[in-house]
Amino acid sequence: MKIATLSIGDELLTGETVDTNASHIADRLYDAGGRVFKHLTVPDDVEAIAAALRELAGESDVVVVTGGLGPTPDDYTAQAAAVAAGTELELSQGALAHLARFEERIKGGLHPANRRQALLPKGCTLIDNPLGTACGFVVNISGADLFFLPGVPYEMERMLAESVLPPLAKRLPAPWRRVTLKLFGIPEAAIAERLAGVFPENSPVQLAYCVKYPEIHLILRSAAEHAGLLKEAVEAVRERLESFVFAKDGETMDDRLALLFRESGLTLALAESCTGGMIASRITAVAGSSAYFLEGNVTYSNEAKTRMLKVPAELIEAHGAVSSEVARAMATGAREAAGSDLALSVTGIAGPDGGTAEKPVGTVYLALADASCCLVERYNFQGDRAGVRSITCFTALDWLRNYLLTLHGKTGRN
Ligand code: AMP
Ligand code: MG
Repeated sequence: MKIATLSIGDELLTGETVDTNASHIADRLYDAGGRVFKHLTVPDDVEAIAAALRELAGESDVVVVTGGLGPTPDDYTAQAAAVAAGTELELSQGALAHLARFEERIKGGLHPANRRQALLPKGCTLIDNPLGTACGFVVNISGADLFFLPGVPYEMERMLAESVLPPLAKRLPAPWRRVTLKLFGIPEAAIAERLAGVFPENSPVQLAYCVKYPEIHLILRSAAEHAGLLKEAVEAVRERLESFVFAKDGETMDDRLALLFRESGLTLALAESCTGGMIASRITAVAGSSAYFLEGNVTYSNEAKTRMLKVPAELIEAHGAVSSEVARAMATGAREAAGSDLALSVTGIAGPDGGTAEKPVGTVYLALADASCCLVERYNFQGDRAGVRSITCFTALDWLRNYLLTLHGKTGRN
């Protein structure tokens, strides 16, 4: 079955809005066994929309269209659908009833302009919108079914899941299987080298690299009948890249770390300088983190490092705030202050100012203290201020992950 998608909206072409609808629809269709062969984006213009609808209807079995169903005068999709279908707009009684139901729920009632949303192409089939005023609709043009959905992502996603995918799934082959392995700390080229020979030229298992900095996602796909081979390929990838794989499919680094902390029974404190609390924020974003996270100190000034973490002023004086000595003292001081099992510290130069020849922007020290020792390492990260801070944060989380894995002799399976 040939499936195309069409996004409508000036804001998508000026760059003001990222077209998340197109990727969401393609992703959901893929999981249902379909594949989008073409995607177009057009402005809010009747002629442009009608031309795109005719083009896609002529070469597809199904077209999923989003956007331009709003109540404002720049929403032309229904009108363009009527033009492309060679019909006209009429007041849909079903859409009017939908608006009336909405009116009851909204304080002060609907704006009269919303009535415009009930003007739909003659003979179309309505698609219910449980979350908004704009009904979706289906029109058949040149033998193709065109599904029209609103642009608002959360409305569109619900309607796609409830009213578009179920009838389409019946017409689609068995879905392809897909496994995503998420890696950190190894460049793409090194991954490719380690995977040499795992995916021969005509292997029924396909491999795709997807860089979501600082993560690299390996996406392994196969037809349903090759599920066994897919599983073997996943195993082979894991064997060669084990410690770099931090999560699988929908799981995140934060989820994985939370799980490892809960399993370990250990507690954590943080001492952050250049990340300003970002690490604490990531850790506490996971529900239940209070079971292992005791406290985070944002010790930005030298004075705060001394007062809160008992880092000797002379140590800072002698080595500088960004140094292995101070990183170590911050971690041990934070551990002491919190009475935690572990404490992690970061101190670095995020830039754009403050770098020297010896310690350029991107110089970051991480330290991790437990009861018996304190690991310290220097990094020279690249990037702007935001980039340095986020890679520092991710590296810190990965340190904790590796520590907990090593401690328990785990294989890193997720
Ligand atoms: P519309 O249905 O065209 O009135 O769109 C309503 C809102 O949905 C717009 O203001 C955009 O913020 C959003 N939107 C429209 N199309 C898309 C798209 N393809 N991806 C993400 N958001 C969109
Ligand atoms: Mg619009």
